[in-house]
Amino acid sequence: MDWSLLDCGRSGHVTYAPDEPALRDRLSARTSGGTAWRCLRCGTFVTGDPDRTGPAGEAPRVRRGDQVRSALILRIFAIERFLRALLLGVAAYVVWRFQYRRSSIEEAFDRDLPLVRTLFKQLGFDIDHSKLVGLIKHALTLSNGSIRVLAGGLAIYAVIELIEGTGLWLTKRWGEYFAMVATSVGLPLEIYDLTTKITVTRVLFFAVNLALVLYLVLTKRLLGVRGGKRAYEARLRSESIMDAAIADVSASRVTAAAGPATGPAAGPALAADTAALAPDRPIAPG
Ligand SMILES: [Zn+2]
Repeated sequence: MDWSLLDCGRSGHVTYAPDEPALRDRLSARTSGGTAWRCLRCGTFVTGDPDRTGPAGEAPRVRRGDQVRSALILRIFAIERFLRALLLGVAAYVVWRFQYRRSSIEEAFDRDLPLVRTLFKQLGFDIDHSKLVGLIKHALTLSNGSIRVLAGGLAIYAVIELIEGTGLWLTKRWGEYFAMVATSVGLPLEIYDLTTKITVTRVLFFAVNLALVLYLVLTKRLLGVRGGKRAYEARLRSESIMDAAIADVSASRVTAAAGPATGPAAGPALAADTAALAPDRPIAPG
């Protein structure tokens, strides 16, 4: 499956006319319908005016192939983090409000519990042993100070999940590091939880978090794994259509310069020229 086409289908082709004549020639073609420009993502020649024009160094960095798939996977993780943030945020709010409405909740609980208990008993459930009832009973014994600490803790946790989700959604390197570190910190606790009791939810949460950490470290080459940032960016460059065209132009100039007419001074000058054509460009989101 060509993942580049998925993004082009969704947000359109990305064409760019570089100022450098040699690069213009490589990225454009004359057709009966006029000049066509090569899409920097899927490589298709698209007739019509280019989206933008300017120096090659300012061409948009677009995700291609596997990077499109990777961004998609990270966005699925991001959505999961946003959902967690939402649930934790709601929980923090409910706990916070609880200290002001404690007496009315206590009354309602004492008033309605016998009724609810009878109702559930007829259905075959014994709610006196239910976790939720136990939790509410426990919460009713907490001091206001403990409730505020609990609400604060939940709110901080919600914010952490929100930052993780945002970083993963934007596929920024800081976001990938943040998500990796924040998720790793929770892993020992989750393992401890699993040693005390194995439940489907715990196994599921642990599996999702472990998968995210491994996925980030291995595919994004965090912490210097598989060559680290340098290798990761080299791979991005090797997959870029603009960088391939720049390399082609440089290579053909080297071949031309290698002729007998050229003096020894051509070497360093060419190297400087090539370096100017391929500066480090940040990867544009989207
Ligand atoms: Zn395209």
